[in-house]
Amino acid sequence: MIPGDFSYHRPDSKAQALDMLRRAGPDGRILAGGHSLIPMMKLRMAAPAQLIDISRIGELKGVAIGGREVEIGAATTQHELIENEQLAAACPIIRETALQIADPQIRYLGTIGGNVGNGDPGNDMPGLMQCLDADYLLESAKGQRSVKARAYYQGAYVTAIADGEMITKIRFALPPKGQGYAYKKLKRKIGDYATAAAAVTLEMAGGVVRRASIALTNVGDTPLYAADAVDRITSTALLPPDIDAAVAAAEAITRPASDGRGSAEYRRRMAGVMVRRALIEAAGRATETADGKDAPKDGKTGGIFGWLKG
Ligand SMILES: Cc1cc2nc3c(=O)[nH]c(=O)nc-3n(C[C@H](O)[C@H](O)[C@H](O)COP(=O)(O)OP(=O)(O)OC[C@H]3O[C@@H](n4cnc5c(N)ncnc54)[C@H](O)[C@@H]3O)c2cc1C
Repeated sequence: MIPGDFSYHRPDSKAQALDMLRRAGPDGRILAGGHSLIPMMKLRMAAPAQLIDISRIGELKGVAIGGREVEIGAATTQHELIENEQLAAACPIIRETALQIADPQIRYLGTIGGNVGNGDPGNDMPGLMQCLDADYLLESAKGQRSVKARAYYQGAYVTAIADGEMITKIRFALPPKGQGYAYKKLKRKIGDYATAAAAVTLEMAGGVVRRASIALTNVGDTPLYAADAVDRITSTALLPPDIDAAVAAAEAITRPASDGRGSAEYRRRMAGVMVRRALIEAAGRATETADGKDAPKDGKTGGIFGWLKG
């Protein structure tokens, strides 16, 4: 449980951090909250020679909410996300998800950049970022590029990041008013990673699903965007058979391992249960979006949406 030798650097600015990363090449590794990397180093699953600690770089922290976009600095902690009232109003699924990560001590230090950059399929934020269709801004001493969360994950702990790069910002479109949302996570106990989890957003107009997004956590080597499940409910009234079809389509893309959280078959089914619960909760929270021209004047609609709204 003792890590190998390493040099520790604590840059004061993003420019300094990027320069250190450039000089370290493949030996360099970002240290943010340390709640994933340090345990991996102690287990000798990671042995970086140069640790570059970004946790005190102010310009990598904070949340900016514009008219069209939300931008989160990579070194923003999960606790800071939870505490941010403007973010909770603009995109409440962030707080709902962050509150289900680990426990308060870990959330005080663990960062969103570390959570999405880690590549651990058990992390909750990557699935959520796929659901929100977020982009990760990757910067290096040579320049910058943007990679979609849906394209970032290539395998367990294998991502699109290159030597010398770090994630500096996470960006996604500001959710429209009235969007329904839910993050449902099954875990054995507080502080555990997901047995299975699902993130859902839903926009309703005229009593039908105008737009939806569904992503899954910890039921494969990577987070999974459930495109077929989304197709099954788009333009439907979200009647029970529509939900059944989405659940079946989501289950079909899972590739869970059998482990201490259950057999592969159990975890596949639990992924379906999480999708079902998230869809129902998201529908209950959705209100008609502004372009729901066909919506009945009394706000009542058909399908499960209408039933939930009474
Ligand atoms: C007991 C326990 C329970 C946990 N339970 C959960 C849980 O239920 N759900 C969950 O999601 N997480 C869980 N975690 C993980 C926790 O949320 C971590 O803090 C988080 O995943 C990593 O964030 P960090 O800032 O600590 O990153 P670090 O540990 O510092 O880094 C993790 C990895 O990401 C890389 N990295 C960090 N920042 C960047 C960046 N800006 N750009 C590129 N790469 C970067 C590092 O180089 C490293 O490879 C748990 C951790 C513990 C110890």
